[in-house]
Amino acid sequence: MSEQEGSDKIYDVVIIGGGPAGLTAGIYAMRAAMKTVLVEGASSVSQISTTDAIENYPGLAGTNGLDLVAIFKKQAVDLGLEIIPDDVSAIRWLASGGTDRWEVFVGDQSYKSLSVIYATGANWRRLGVIGEDNFVGRGVSFCATCDAPMFKNKEVAVVGGGDTAIQEALYLTRFVKKVTVIHRRNRLRATAILQQRAFSNDKIEFLWDSVVEEIQGQNMVQGVRVHNLKTGEDTILPVNGVFVFIGLNPNTGMLHKLIDLDEGGYIKVNANMESSARGFFAAGDCVAKRLRQVVTACGDGANAAYSAQLYVEDIKGEAY
Ligand SMILES: Cc1cc2nc3c(=O)[nH]c(=O)nc-3n(C[C@H](O)[C@H](O)[C@H](O)COP(=O)(O)OP(=O)(O)OC[C@H]3O[C@@H](n4cnc5c(N)ncnc54)[C@H](O)[C@@H]3O)c2cc1C
Repeated sequence: MSEQEGSDKIYDVVIIGGGPAGLTAGIYAMRAAMKTVLVEGASSVSQISTTDAIENYPGLAGTNGLDLVAIFKKQAVDLGLEIIPDDVSAIRWLASGGTDRWEVFVGDQSYKSLSVIYATGANWRRLGVIGEDNFVGRGVSFCATCDAPMFKNKEVAVVGGGDTAIQEALYLTRFVKKVTVIHRRNRLRATAILQQRAFSNDKIEFLWDSVVEEIQGQNMVQGVRVHNLKTGEDTILPVNGVFVFIGLNPNTGMLHKLIDLDEGGYIKVNANMESSARGFFAAGDCVAKRLRQVVTACGDGANAAYSAQLYVEDIKGEAY
């Protein structure tokens, strides 16, 4: 790749991602008077902007995702944060004799920086069936922790057979009338203890050897067409919600040769959000951790920005 000069400026930090993690990092970096630019992404949006109601973000119960991201963004912009509405296509480490730095490529521009905060989130793996995209936020969900209360006393389907699917099915039973777990095999992949809990829960039923082929409804989800892989039979299962738990894909494709990722492609970080590479910090859903929520993404973003601040001050000989 030829080096292109988008900006002669050397930034203290380039933040990649305009979701809760990236924007929180932006707020902290601006308040620390760091020379900062945030690339927010153009071909994707923050996952949280796809949901109608967030009830578990402290202090703002009942807001919708789009509004929440707008509030974060306004706060960052009011502090003077420069935001580029584009995608990062590549990142490289420049060890060129002088001060080591990163170069972040955006379209035909590149941004050089002493540090990077990577906060590109993750994408829930989708079923790829008819109706799925149309009903996201209107019955199709990828997050029981977030959306379960909206299905109080209703019937829902959970798609998947791993730990997450079964954990989330169990969680859903606290709210819904009935959960049907639809799994493509004839047994679960989830750990034994979760299986035992699910099998002994009266609210959970199983459809084995089955796949969802279509999600149906008018304004909201009303049912799914389920195909039995053994018998070849199609049936309509009437449900108000479909929770899809067939895995997450972290948006870390461009990092494979740069920093250490776990087997799922998540960025390995320590408690200070430092990755395996000097000056490269990560935050939010793209890091290896247990709970992927707005509140944890914000916490990661704040920690990553503070670590980047200390790192940059150290390089500049400004450590306090
Ligand atoms: C339907 C749904 C409902 C949810 N409900 C809740 C809820 O009620 N409560 C809750 O706490 N959590 C909820 N979550 C989880 C929550 O959305 C995530 O935990 C949170 O958004 C993670 O924040 P993040 O900043 O790490 O990633 P994201 O919010 O996904 O943001 C990632 C950002 O990176 C950008 N990006 C991606 N690739 C690039 C690139 N190459 N270059 C530049 N930018 C890029 C994207 O455009 C986006 O701006 C929900 C998730 C979903 C999908």
